[in-house]
Amino acid sequence: MAERYDVIVIGAGPAGYVAAIRAAQLGFKVGCVEKWVDAAGSPALGGTCLNVGCIPSKALLASSEEYEKAQHHLDVHGIGVKGVSLDVGKMMARKTAIVEKMTKGIEFLFRKNKITWFKGHARFVGAGDDGYQIEVAGTGKPEVHTAVNVIIATGSRARHLDGVKVDNKTICDNEGALAFAAVPKRVGVIGAGVIGLELGSVWRRLGSEVTVLEALPTFLAACDDAVAREAWKLFTKQGLKIEMGVTVGKVSSTKKGVSVAYTDDKGKAHKLEVDKLVISVGRIPNTEGLELEAIGLAPDERGFIPVDERCRTKLPGVYAIGDVVRGPMLAHKGEDEGVMVAEIIAGQHAHIDYNCIPWVIYTSPEIAWVGATERRLKADGRAYKSGQFPFTANGRALGIGAPDGFVKVLVDAKTDELLGVHIIAASASDLIAEAVVAMEFKASGEDIGRICHAHPSLSEAMREAALASDKRALHL
Ligand code: FAD
Ligand code: NAD
Repeated sequence: MAERYDVIVIGAGPAGYVAAIRAAQLGFKVGCVEKWVDAAGSPALGGTCLNVGCIPSKALLASSEEYEKAQHHLDVHGIGVKGVSLDVGKMMARKTAIVEKMTKGIEFLFRKNKITWFKGHARFVGAGDDGYQIEVAGTGKPEVHTAVNVIIATGSRARHLDGVKVDNKTICDNEGALAFAAVPKRVGVIGAGVIGLELGSVWRRLGSEVTVLEALPTFLAACDDAVAREAWKLFTKQGLKIEMGVTVGKVSSTKKGVSVAYTDDKGKAHKLEVDKLVISVGRIPNTEGLELEAIGLAPDERGFIPVDERCRTKLPGVYAIGDVVRGPMLAHKGEDEGVMVAEIIAGQHAHIDYNCIPWVIYTSPEIAWVGATERRLKADGRAYKSGQFPFTANGRALGIGAPDGFVKVLVDAKTDELLGVHIIAASASDLIAEAVVAMEFKASGEDIGRICHAHPSLSEAMREAALASDKRALHL
C-alpha cells in the first residue's frame, strides 16, 4: 500500500542501511528499498560490502592466511604439522555463514528500529507537494511511496572491460573470484588495485599461480612511495607475479580457460594462459534504472550523482551517499556519510573531515594510511618532517612472527601537526585507528610521542615513528 515517509533510503549497503538506522534513531518514519537477491535466491540487506565485498573477502583472506601459516610458518615455533589439507567447500561455507550472520543482523536492526524494508527496485516517478514519489518494483504489483527526504545510496558495481564477457565462472569480477569451487592452477588478475591484490593473495596462498597485469607503470600509486616499494618487495617475494605498465588486448575463452593477449611496458607482445581470470579494474556507480531525470537530477560525466561536501544534491531533501558519489569507494566513508545526512535532515550540523578517512588494504602484511602522502606534501610545497620505525625493532612484532614493515609519520615542520600516517604491517588496519583519532583531534607528533603505549605491543611503533620525526626515537 502506498505510504508517505519522512525518509526513504534507496539501497541498503553500508551507506544506506546506516543512514536508515540513524534516521530512525532520530525519530523519523523510515523506509529503505533494497533489491539484492543472494546466491540462494533470498532477498538480502547489506549491499556489496556484506554480500560480495568487504566481509566475504576478509573471511577468505583469514582462511587462506591460516592455511599458509599451517603449511609454512609453524615450524619456526617448533611445531610440526603434517598432512595439512584443504577443503575449499568448507572454507566457502564458513564465508557464506559469516555473510548470512551479518546480513540477518541488519534485518534485525531494521526490525529493532522499525524501518520498513521494501524489497525490489526503486525508481523515481515524480515529485509533488507531498514529496518525492518512488516506485518499488518487487515480486508483486509495483507500489509508489512518497518521501519528503530521499537518500540515494545505490552503490557501485564492478567495471568490466569492453568486449570481455564476465560469466563469473571462468572470467570473473569480485563475485566469481570470491566463490571458486576449487583452487585453480593458474589465476590471471587484471588490475593491481585493492581487489586484485587482496583476492590475488587469497588464491596464491591457497596454491594458485597468480599473475597480475596492471596498466599503470607505478605500483600502488595511491600509497606513500616508501610503503608501495616495501609492498612490492614483500608481495613479489611471496610469489605474486605482477607485471606493471601492460596494455591488455584480446581476452578469449579457450578449451581449458582463458587466454589474455597483452603487451609489456616495452611494447613486446605476450599471451597469458590461465584457468580463471579476475577482472578488478575499478567500480562504476549505480544509477541506471533509477530515473533520476524524473525529478530533474542527472549523473555527472563519470556516472556519479553530483553532491556538495555534505552530500546534498541540487534538490531540497534529496541526498546521495556512498559509492554513488565522489570520494573513495570505502564502506566506512559511506557509513559516515549516512550518519551525516540523517543528522542534517534532523537539523543538526554534522560534517565529515574527508582528510581523516583511513584506507586499508588487507594483504599480508596489511597496508593502512590516513592523511597526506609525502608526495602530496611535496607537491603542495608544505614543509614537513618524517619519522619512520621498522617492526624488526619491535619486540611484539618479533614475538608474533611479523617483523615486516614500518610506521611512517609525517608532521608539519613548524607546528608539528600530524599530517599523515602510513603503515605496512600486521594489524595495520587496527593500528591506523590511533592515527585517525590523533588527526581528528589535530594532535602533534609530540602528543603521540608522549602518550603511553602498552609494552610489548605493535602500537609502540607508532610512538617511535612520531619520536623519530623529531630524531629522538628511543629504540632506533
Ligand atoms: P553498496 O554496498 O554497493 O550497496 C548499494 C545497494 O543498493 C546494493 O545492495 C544494491 O542492490 C542497491 N541498489 C542499487 N540500485 C537500487 C535500486 N534502484 N533500487 C533498490 N536497490 C538498489 N570497502 C572497505 O571499506 N573495506 C573493505 O575491506 C572493502 N573490501 C571490498 C572488497 C570487495 C571485493 C569489493 C567489491 C568492495 C570492497 N569494499 C571495501 C568497498 C565497499 O564494498 C563499498 O565501498 C561499499 O559497499 C559501498 O557502500 P554503498 O552502500 O555505497 O553501496
Ligand atoms: P582499484 O581502483 O583499486 O584498482 C584498479 C586497478 O586496475 C588500478 O590499478 C588501475 O590502474 C588498473 N586498471 C584499470 N584498467 C586496467 C586495464 N585495462 N588493464 C590493466 N589494469 C587496469 O579498483 P578495484 O581493485 O577494482 O577495487 C574497486 C574499489 O573497491 C576500490 O576503489 C576500493 O575503494 C574498493 N575496495 C576497497 C577495499 C578495501 O578497502 N580494503 C577492498 C576491495 C575493494
